[in-house]
Amino acid sequence: MRPLSSEQILRIWEIGQRQHPVDRALTLLVFSYPDQSVANLASLTVGQRDALLLALREMTLGNTLNCFAQCPQCGEELEFTLETAQIRLSDPSQSLEPDYAFTIAGFEGRFRLPNSFDLAAIAGDQTPEIAKSSLLRRCLLQAHHNGTEISHQELPPPIVSQLATHMAEIDPQAEILFDLSCPACQHEWQILLDIVSFFWAELSAQARRLLLEVHQLARHYSWHEVDILAMSATRRNLYLKMIG
Ligand SMILES: [Zn+2]
Repeated sequence: MRPLSSEQILRIWEIGQRQHPVDRALTLLVFSYPDQSVANLASLTVGQRDALLLALREMTLGNTLNCFAQCPQCGEELEFTLETAQIRLSDPSQSLEPDYAFTIAGFEGRFRLPNSFDLAAIAGDQTPEIAKSSLLRRCLLQAHHNGTEISHQELPPPIVSQLATHMAEIDPQAEILFDLSCPACQHEWQILLDIVSFFWAELSAQARRLLLEVHQLARHYSWHEVDILAMSATRRNLYLKMIG
């Protein structure tokens, strides 16, 4: 994996604008791992995928994430920074099993961890409940209760919920939650950091900045887009200051 170049950022942005977030994540990985097939990258678990995206973000834009949140109680706007090390919950090279066994209160069976194919399959589901049920149907490979085979619909909700917790423990990077506390009203709550949408928003802003820089430099010096994009950011900024 290497940092994304300016040219790659623009190409990814162009392709990704028309894509669902699940496919945007894959587009980013395809550019980072050109020797891997899309099917292989889509088969990574959600946690493995997000660990790679976090590593790519770190290489391309650095270790510090500038975050914003709004207090759900009083509406106060919070600005804070996170270091990538604080939200790295698993090692991207850590190997996972194709499937896992579970035994919870008399229910037992096997499941696999959700991947991008699963996320794509549930993307069109109307409600979170339907999506949850579709995900369970896809990832639950077999289930038994007292020796009798049962379907995913026959698993009681408390067992499903324990199974989800178990999955999150095995693939922790799939869900990054962290605690916030409001300086204005002391309300405490947890927010979910979605690395795909976070990184995408940053790349979109970066792409727009790059286009503006190309526009200004090309207009002033008549340089070609490809040459301007191939320059380092430092060099582009110096030229921009000179013409500014
Ligand atoms: Zn507040």
